[in-house]
Amino acid sequence: MKPFPETLLFDLKQLTADDRATTSESVLALHSKDESHHTPVMPDVVVFPVSTEEVSAILKYANEHKIPVVPFGAGSSLEGHCVPLKGGISLDFSQMNQILEVRVEDFLVRVQPGVTRTQLNQALKKYGLFFPVDPGADASLGGMAATNASGTMSVRYGIMRDQVRDLEVVLADGSVIHTGGLAAKSSSGYHLTSLFVGSEGTLGVFTEITVKVYGIPETMVAGRATFPTVKEAVDAAIALLSAGISIGRVELVDPVSIKQVNKHSETNYPEKPTLFLEFHGNEAGLKQDVDFATELLEGHGSDQFTFESESKERAKLWEARHNLAYAFKHGYPGKEMMLTDVCLPLSELSGAIVYAREVIDQNGIPGGVLGHVGDGNFHSILMFDKRDPEEEQKALAINEKIVTYALQKGGTCTGEHGIGIGKKKYLKVEHADTLPLMKMIKQSFDPNHILNPGKVIEMGNE
Ligand SMILES: Cc1cc2nc3c(=O)[nH]c(=O)nc-3n(C[C@H](O)[C@H](O)[C@H](O)COP(=O)(O)OP(=O)(O)OC[C@H]3O[C@@H](n4cnc5c(N)ncnc54)[C@H](O)[C@@H]3O)c2cc1C
Repeated sequence: MKPFPETLLFDLKQLTADDRATTSESVLALHSKDESHHTPVMPDVVVFPVSTEEVSAILKYANEHKIPVVPFGAGSSLEGHCVPLKGGISLDFSQMNQILEVRVEDFLVRVQPGVTRTQLNQALKKYGLFFPVDPGADASLGGMAATNASGTMSVRYGIMRDQVRDLEVVLADGSVIHTGGLAAKSSSGYHLTSLFVGSEGTLGVFTEITVKVYGIPETMVAGRATFPTVKEAVDAAIALLSAGISIGRVELVDPVSIKQVNKHSETNYPEKPTLFLEFHGNEAGLKQDVDFATELLEGHGSDQFTFESESKERAKLWEARHNLAYAFKHGYPGKEMMLTDVCLPLSELSGAIVYAREVIDQNGIPGGVLGHVGDGNFHSILMFDKRDPEEEQKALAINEKIVTYALQKGGTCTGEHGIGIGKKKYLKVEHADTLPLMKMIKQSFDPNHILNPGKVIEMGNE
């Protein structure tokens, strides 16, 4: 695609402002990577647009000159999504961070893509509303839509694709479209919103996002239950879901991970397979649900469980869970983190988790197994030294074994993080039959392959 125009920086300043396009080394370095272990590559320039019009002008210019454009939200993705493999423009959305409209009666909000999930929830509090998709990082809504993110509450409220009602998208040639509307349902034409959600910046760039929001539950009760084995913990989680109990979250954390939590969060949880739970509802209903849950947990071999309705204690428990990846990062300074995120049918989940633990132990790589077990989605956190090729190979081999197992059981190579660079080879296996169709879609949306080239699928001539 290179060489780019010599006037690249000057031109982008003309399209935005003098202080919103830069080639400063430190800013380029920040935009050369995401939170993953993938090798950084510098962009040629970083631009901070403030409006749809500016994004449109930048894309029109980039398309004319065949310059790659990599959208950048909070940079928290985990498969090299934000690495500008072919250089070009990193399009940073941090200055497009306005909450544009709160439609309380419609349970909808319209935001710019740089709004983060915690920023949105702070703003929604005064309306008694909240946004439930909560990846472990404070991600931007643009990045979350582009990766089809999910989190601890997806078991109850659904994933990002379930929340997005409309997207304003700037296409590769700079034209601006809306993919949906405000209606709760529609049978009108192809569902382009669903196509763009999860497209990882390869089909278009989002400049506005309308998402569903929810009433804050009247009462929440958090709980922690330990089990002798991982299998019993997973079976108990499935039993709670089958019983129709109003589960808000159900997360499995294995003993190695609990040990890491205790070190990092100054907790003293028993180092056993543990379910972190939360129930959402009203006081009377929740009392019954907690009683019933207690019976089910006991029946499934739980040897200890505690419930907590006081909000400070509840927050502490979930903070410990949310900080788990960072607990591993801080616990192994100098090592990189590789995070698998396979998702399987619930009936195959406990087998897959037991298998993952075995494979990690056999290879001697430090790591934990944890996950959003209510969705069939679990993570293996693998800590490895990138300077040691043998260790990196071991981590990659573990990843491959876990993914292969999931695919053999009807699962997917990625439940929530996406394909980026790291999962491209598994996408080819998982969707061998539809890959040609995906390439045709990419070709017609982005004929010059300027949008996040080298991610999700290879187009061959990038
Ligand atoms: C500790 C930790 C825990 C995590 N836990 C979870 C989890 O539980 N669940 C989960 O789903 N993920 C999780 N993640 C991964 C990450 O937080 C999500 O993938 C998140 O959705 C990325 O959002 P972001 O704003 O950081 O996007 P970025 O990393 O900036 O970008 C991600 C992708 O979106 C594209 N993009 C960004 N903005 C736009 C836009 N406006 N238009 C079009 N494309 C755009 C980028 O080009 C890139 O391909 C975790 C990450 C970390 C570090």
